[in-house]
Amino acid sequence: MPEATPADAPRATAGSGIVQVLDASKTYRTQSGKEVYALEPTRLDIAEGEFVSVVGPSGCGKTTLLNMMAGLLASTSGEIRFNGTRLVGPSREIGIVFQRPVLLPWRRILDNVMLPVEVMRLRPRADYDTRARDLLKMVGLDGFEAAYPQELSGGMQQRAAIARALVYDSKLLLMDEPFAALDALTREEMNMELLRIWGLTGKAIVFVTHNIPEAVLLSDRIVVMTPRPGKVREVIEVDLPRPRSLSLMGNRRFGDLADHIRSLFKTPAKAN
Ligand code: ADP
Ligand code: MG
Repeated sequence: MPEATPADAPRATAGSGIVQVLDASKTYRTQSGKEVYALEPTRLDIAEGEFVSVVGPSGCGKTTLLNMMAGLLASTSGEIRFNGTRLVGPSREIGIVFQRPVLLPWRRILDNVMLPVEVMRLRPRADYDTRARDLLKMVGLDGFEAAYPQELSGGMQQRAAIARALVYDSKLLLMDEPFAALDALTREEMNMELLRIWGLTGKAIVFVTHNIPEAVLLSDRIVVMTPRPGKVREVIEVDLPRPRSLSLMGNRRFGDLADHIRSLFKTPAKAN
């Protein structure tokens, strides 16, 4: 039975999705013993195959929420369910692209992309090798297979990290501002590429971004958060047709949705 929530509490779809965030909150304790209330109890359902973006001001708990959904961070209260089961640690069904690329400096780019294949002992290895090379081409790193991470720019490293997250078939892909370090043009290309991959794989994606048009372009729903302690301020359905292309950004409905989200950023949330 779903618990009762106040009528004005924004929430995502009812029912059971691939991920259920059930009143998960987070209070950090710093080394000096200070408590930081980062995330208020949050409820969110992500349906199978759904593309959901999370937007909100810096420090509102987006990364915290994503890391909890990845099973990398325990919630202080509430719980996260993945495929109906309480998440208590990382799962091979969940891929993650961190805010920073976190590549292993002593491994070549191709070997970094192949890391999950090795860790999970996925077979046949040759197929994954081909896939890793194809993904590197796709993210524009053709010819850099044998390079070391420090020989690549920050944006290129991030693209390698994206290839790594896509090398195996997870049911859920969590992405934390993955395109923030890319120039505008590459970013647009990566957006379209991500939509293509999403269409092909049918995986659910939770995508954290600061970029409002990017969120509108990509998403089925957009979760708008309030400043710290973060909570869900509004969940917006993006009722734009698919497949989507960059030309959609000139569409009136697109502009209206983006304007609405911008206005939520500018006006303080009602206290409740
Ligand atoms: P966002 O990704 O939205 O910018 P974060 O989830 O990274 O926000 O952080 C939310 C809040 O929690 C911030 O105020 C941040 O300073 C604080 N915070 C994050 N990680 C820690 C930590 N390990 N220890 C203490 N405070 C933290
Ligand atoms: Mg963050």
